[in-house]
Amino acid sequence: MPFRPRYTGLIAKYKDRLPVKDDTRLISLGEGNTPLIKLNNIARELGQDCDIYVKFEGLNPTGSFKDRGMTMAVTKAVEEGSRAIICASTGNTSASAAAYAARAGIKAFVLIPEGKIAMGKLAQAIMHGAEVIQIQGNFDEGMRLVKEVAGEAPVTIVNSINPFRLQGQKTAAFEIVEELERAPDYHCLPVGNAGNITAHWIGYSEYAGVDTAANNYSQGHSRFASAIVGTRPKMIGYQAAGSAPFIRGAMVDNPETVATAIRIGHPQSWDYAWKAQEESGGWFDECSDEEILATQRLLAQKEGVFCEPASATSLAGALRDIKNGKIPEGSTVVCTLTGHGLKDPDIVIQQAGAPIKPVEATLDAVKSAILGRL
Ligand SMILES: *Cc1c(COP(=O)(O)O)cnc(C)c1O
Repeated sequence: MPFRPRYTGLIAKYKDRLPVKDDTRLISLGEGNTPLIKLNNIARELGQDCDIYVKFEGLNPTGSFKDRGMTMAVTKAVEEGSRAIICASTGNTSASAAAYAARAGIKAFVLIPEGKIAMGKLAQAIMHGAEVIQIQGNFDEGMRLVKEVAGEAPVTIVNSINPFRLQGQKTAAFEIVEELERAPDYHCLPVGNAGNITAHWIGYSEYAGVDTAANNYSQGHSRFASAIVGTRPKMIGYQAAGSAPFIRGAMVDNPETVATAIRIGHPQSWDYAWKAQEESGGWFDECSDEEILATQRLLAQKEGVFCEPASATSLAGALRDIKNGKIPEGSTVVCTLTGHGLKDPDIVIQQAGAPIKPVEATLDAVKSAILGRL
């Protein structure tokens, strides 16, 4: 048979490793199965003997890794009879919640911080018909309000404190191990709420046959005692300097960064992320907004991969730590690119400098415009 079965999403693929039953109605948009792209040009110019891969999660259905968690969270919400979901969001969670709620035929309420959300993400929430509530406050305040209101109204929280989110997101680690046919030596992620670094640690641990506290919390099962691979990567979390509670060692009350997706000062998965760092022998570090934007541009211009600013934080940190030897030569490094660059076109236009000047629509004008720049 020349044909392979149609890919129908990560729950269908990893059903026996996720908390669903055989007859559970799966709410899916074909999420997961994202490319693991090896960086050729950047790695060569770096001149260090490391294999650097980016896992491009921006190619999920709504353009971020949030879809991996959302397919599980919404599937379970529907299974439990919920008619409405709610989340606080810096943008991508709301875009994903809106889309999966539409798919399920239920309502989504999304709380977003006024003025600090990328345009593409807001457009998605509106387009998918979510009830958008803009608050005069930041993500952390939205998160607190969501927890309070969920205690008083029949709505299911689909932020990453929803244990099923982490179960869905752990599948990214499965895919990486399957593609590399081994675990990487280092896995680098941008860290905001710290759910994703926790989820990856659950996934890598599960494939290594090791149970984790976060896995039990998130209702995974520990019946997979036998290991598929013998090692787990060191987990490295990079934060934006103005929004870096893991580097300060304490919560940050007024987080600021151009990388709005990680503009979070009170991470919800604080304890689990510290565990992932400690158990794996990894570390946390910070990147400046300038480094983040420069790396976003580098990746777009040297490799043809366009991620959003927050996503570039993982590669910005990794490149620095490869250069300074903290990540040794010969390492296999995976960086998660959490979201697509098209989410936030404003940031590109703002930095573009002079606007593009039109030329006359004549052969002469176009020819001289080309010859002048060759
Ligand atoms: C949500 C998000 C993050 C942060 O992930 P956490 O699980 O909150 O640490 C990073 N980048 C993008 C693009 C995101 O949408």
